Parts: sequence; structure tokens; C-alpha cells
Amino acid sequence: MTDQCVTSQDGIEPRKYKLDSKFNFSCNKGMKCYTHCCSAINIILTPYDIVRMKNRLKLSCDQFLAIYTKPELLERTKLPVATLKMVDDEKESCPFVTPEGCAIYEDRPLSCRYYPLGTAAFREQEIEPTGEDFYFMVREAHCLGFESDQQWTVSQWRKDQGVEAYDEINEGWMELMLRKKSFGFEAELSEQSRGMFFMVSTNVDRLKRFIFESSFLDKYDVDKAVLERIKTDETALLKFGFDWLQSALFGSDKVKLKDEALKAHKEKG
Ligand code: SF4
Ligand code: SF4
Repeated sequence: MTDQCVTSQDGIEPRKYKLDSKFNFSCNKGMKCYTHCCSAINIILTPYDIVRMKNRLKLSCDQFLAIYTKPELLERTKLPVATLKMVDDEKESCPFVTPEGCAIYEDRPLSCRYYPLGTAAFREQEIEPTGEDFYFMVREAHCLGFESDQQWTVSQWRKDQGVEAYDEINEGWMELMLRKKSFGFEAELSEQSRGMFFMVSTNVDRLKRFIFESSFLDKYDVDKAVLERIKTDETALLKFGFDWLQSALFGSDKVKLKDEALKAHKEKG
């Protein structure tokens, strides 16, 4: 139920899993270890996790971030992310765990969906910027799920846990992480660039205000139909935000500057 984004090495098998790799696993309410995996964990929230969770809880992004998250700078890439804040109790429980299970199960984060699998794209330890898509297995001692006879391929597990939509929406964000890796760990982003990355990664409300209530649209050439869509569709807004970051941070031409702004940008050097 927990984490592909765990920063500790505990229980991680030294083997790469592909989509057709097989493993045995099951998890259900009757198990002795039920919810034991929902405490003392470091869950990095993906942009789409935050959208789903804040909507589920009927909170604004600012409220959700303030109540349920803490910021963290990834060790190698130095990219800022939001992690789920554990409760200050003896077990350091997840704020959403109950004796009956996860209180936000239908909107649980991607890490909890993937578990016991993790994805290479999230692991800072996988430093090769090859973009190779592979998975790894987290075998924690308390988890009895591995004793099951039920067999899965990685592909079947992804489908069963509903991760495909999350991966599709977060794809541009994962590309940004890989892109930062390929620029080299030493090449640090400026504080302003890190701020932009954090805004897009965690706060669609602010991103929307930034696009529609700042000088953004004086500088960038954005198709009218795209603008109409991102006014009301948060996943489209997120994807647009990832495209804009690709352009603003890494020089892609996904979101183009207007001629005037481009000229001023070149003159500025
Ligand atoms: S089987 Fe593993 S994932 Fe399921 S409740 Fe137990 S510890 Fe958590
Ligand atoms: S969000 Fe839900 S599934 Fe994930 S750790 Fe918390 S209680 Fe467990």
C-alpha cells in the first residue's frame, strides 16, 4: 500500500522488473499486517496525486499543502517536491490510515497504488538518465502479501491498481525529472526555477492564477482553445504546466514565447 518513493534502501530487491515480470502478492483486510505499511513512510506526492487528494478533501491547494504535506529537496536532482506529512504519534501514522483501511482509498497516491512495486523513474539512486522504464520490488519484513499464491505480472498489477491514468497525466513531470538528471546533478537550477517547478508540481490553483492573472499571456503565445480548456480542466492545466516548464527551464519549444518577448529574452542574453 505504500511507497515507490521511499528514500530508504530497506527491502529493495536488486532486480529489475519489466512489464511482463511476475510476482506473487495479495493484500486484503483480513491480513494480520493490514495497514502496517501505512506509517513511518516517505511518500513523494506527484502533481496528479495532489489534485486528486485536495479535491477529495474539498480543500484548496494551499490548504492541502499546509495541512498534509512538507516540502523536500530531492537529494541528487535538488528538485523540490511535496511529501505526505505523517502524524506526530508513536507510529508516525499516515494521516489517512484508519482501522478499516485507507480513508481516501479511491484517491490514494500513486506510490500507494504501485506498492509493493516502485518505479525507477522516481528513484534518485537510478542515476542513469536513460529513461529506461523498469520497476523494482520492495520486500518489507512486515508485509505478508508475498506469501500469497496469487500471481501477477507488473502489467496486470498496474492495471488492477489504476496507475495507468496517473502515469499518463504525470508523464510530462517525469520527463522533467529525467531531463534534470540528464543535465547532470551538478547543474543546479536557480531558486526562481526551483520555485516554478514546485508551483507546477504542487499547486494548480497558483499555476492558474499565474497564467491568467500575471503578464504570462503577454509573453507566451498560447492557442485560444488550449486557454479555454485549462481554465476548467485541472489535468489539462497540469499538462500545460509541464510543457511550459520544459520550455522555460530546458529550452524546448512546447510553449512558445511571442516575438517581442523572444527578442527581449535574447537581448537579455
Ligand atoms: S499485505 Fe503488505 S501491503 Fe497489504 S496491508 Fe499487509 S503490509 Fe500492507
Ligand atoms: S494514503 Fe492510504 S494507502 Fe497510502 S499510506 Fe496513507 S493510508 Fe496507506
